[in-house]
Amino acid sequence: MKVTILYDNESRQRDLKADWGFSCIVEKEGRKILFDTGANGRILLNNMRGLGVSPESVDEIFISHDHWDHTGGFSEFTKERDGKIKVYIPSSCSSISGAGEIIRIDNFFEIHDKIYSTGELQNIEQSMAVKTEEGTVVITGCSHPGVQEILHAVRPLGKVKALVGGLHGFSQFELLKNLDLVCATHCTQYKAEIESSFPDKFIQGGAGTVIEL
Ligand SMILES: [Zn+2]
Ligand SMILES: [Zn+2]
Repeated sequence: MKVTILYDNESRQRDLKADWGFSCIVEKEGRKILFDTGANGRILLNNMRGLGVSPESVDEIFISHDHWDHTGGFSEFTKERDGKIKVYIPSSCSSISGAGEIIRIDNFFEIHDKIYSTGELQNIEQSMAVKTEEGTVVITGCSHPGVQEILHAVRPLGKVKALVGGLHGFSQFELLKNLDLVCATHCTQYKAEIESSFPDKFIQGGAGTVIEL
């Protein structure tokens, strides 16, 4: 599987714009899921172009939570698809409209073979989990429910291999010790501390970061 960060507070390529927000493309067995849409649709589409991801190639959208820096690019993106796209949102999310099909998620749910939602945790956010041969890859928006709760929710899938996304004010670093890879990005407050605690497993985030697992 592959995660390509499209939108982030930082950028790794000169032609990609940095902006507060998060979006990435999750690819698994030929399926492309747009995870969140950043804050601004023009920046999202610009960065998609820069990374060679056409809007037409996206199969579905997964929205982690109803904050503007994750949903802001949604309507501009869906216009590119004349609204004909399926979107998975956490149940409490109210700002999403204009999609072909909206699927509200409450509980742990298998979206596709080996691709899961944690369900909406703490009435605010869902994370994505992708099962691979070597363990589960967890992708988060801001981790508002807390990393501990997110990791707990994916326990039925077995070993967690990687964590990618925003970790907000997360500071229980010992929870990461058994992971192989951590890409703590977007709103993560203690990026530098996580990197210095786990230099071997830390990957820099930012628009343009590609992680193949
Ligand atoms: Zn948030
Ligand atoms: Zn955020």
